[in-house]
Amino acid sequence: MGTTEVGQTQYRQGMYKVVMDQFERAADVMGLDASVREILSRTNSEIVVHFPVRMDDGSIEVFTGYRVQHNNALGPYKGGLRYHPTVDIESARALAIWMTWKTALAGLPYGGGKGGVQIDPKRYSRVELERITRRFTYALGDNIGPDLDIPAPDVNTNSQIMAWIADTYCSTKPANTRSSNMHVVTGKPTGSGGLDGRDRATGFGVVVTLKAWAQRRNADLKGMRYIVQGFGNVGYWTAHFLAREGAVLVAVQDASGTLYKAEGIDPEALHAHVETNAASVAGFKGAAPMPAEEFFGLDCDIVVPAALGNQITATNAGSIKAKVVAEGANGPTDTEGEAILHRNHVEIIPDILCNSGGVIGSYIEWLLNRRMEHGRIDEVLRMIEDKITTAFTQVAHTAAEFDTDWRTSAYIVALRRLESAYKERGIFP
Ligand code: NAD
Repeated sequence: MGTTEVGQTQYRQGMYKVVMDQFERAADVMGLDASVREILSRTNSEIVVHFPVRMDDGSIEVFTGYRVQHNNALGPYKGGLRYHPTVDIESARALAIWMTWKTALAGLPYGGGKGGVQIDPKRYSRVELERITRRFTYALGDNIGPDLDIPAPDVNTNSQIMAWIADTYCSTKPANTRSSNMHVVTGKPTGSGGLDGRDRATGFGVVVTLKAWAQRRNADLKGMRYIVQGFGNVGYWTAHFLAREGAVLVAVQDASGTLYKAEGIDPEALHAHVETNAASVAGFKGAAPMPAEEFFGLDCDIVVPAALGNQITATNAGSIKAKVVAEGANGPTDTEGEAILHRNHVEIIPDILCNSGGVIGSYIEWLLNRRMEHGRIDEVLRMIEDKITTAFTQVAHTAAEFDTDWRTSAYIVALRRLESAYKERGIFP
């Protein structure tokens, strides 16, 4: 049987320190209400489960899974599940907090949650991953639910894993409510209530923000040179939509290697390679390997971090020559890295705005599931574009109002919504 611990540990390091530094800066700049500040400085609940799973060879392995629920003032907790060795309570906490800001900024009726399992999924067979996923879902039990906390894909999780979660969750419900619980997760396959286009939603949104950024500079993405770290869901789809704008992918880095080609890498050919080579860019013939540590300093216009957190730091931020960093990943720039980028006049499209296309797509899927309806991909992408463009404009106006950077201004837009909700409703009892 799994065990459940709910609590709050007071320590700050890694991504948690970064998200709290960002929050405190914005709270200071806007003069956030002191009580609301105190509430938002803590997570509502933190669930840690240990659960046993039978491996293919008959042995039993015990896994640790996490789900952190930061805040639900605006609606049910929402956020991804990650399968990665770096998943722990501190990273889940940071990522859950970012989700609260992201959903509030996008104007969605959601709060923030995040979690995952501390594993390297490459070490397990598909059948083992299915059993791990189902047993994790069972261990979480009613700590998730379509009106309570709605997970989605993140690093190393995909629509298949969401389908297993939905199936397991629904199977534990009374027969007459099973089919009305499929929206316990979003990012499902289209045959299981998934949204046509959810796969590309985040990368599409990244490009919407880059188009808005270029427009503000009276520039054109056509011919701009860019580099992408991470060539998974977010990295690939960003490259796919940037290619349509005529931008040129000159380098890509993932967990397996770093590749460069001055004349441009074909994103579709690279994607085909990744699909058939254990999700790795290494070995791709359409570009040459290059030293990993030179990646961020390459001569280009746009940097798209689309892998893990804390990638742009004091070590490499000073080498960045690009005009803009578009944060496809969550928390890719740490506090020191950000200060260096500001000093060097490198603009940042902050993660809570830049990669919000994914959660907006999830919201559309969740709404359609509630109504037992299906959506069309062109309508979905149009809705994502509308919401992100609106948020971008609000961020730009608020940055001018407070004479501050875009990240702080994005936080202010989100925090104002949360502050109003608390002020209107008061505190029970
Ligand atoms: P993914 O698992 O599909 O891809 C992750 C990529 O990161 C892979 O290419 C992997 O090789 C690479 N990577 C891992 N470790 C690396 C390292 N040390 N150096 C360089 N590359 C490394 O994951 P994803 O869904 O594309 O998520 C990527 C990022 O975007 C994460 O930060 C995630 O939280 C964020 N995000 C994802 C979504 C979504 O809808 N999937 C939405 C918003 C934000």
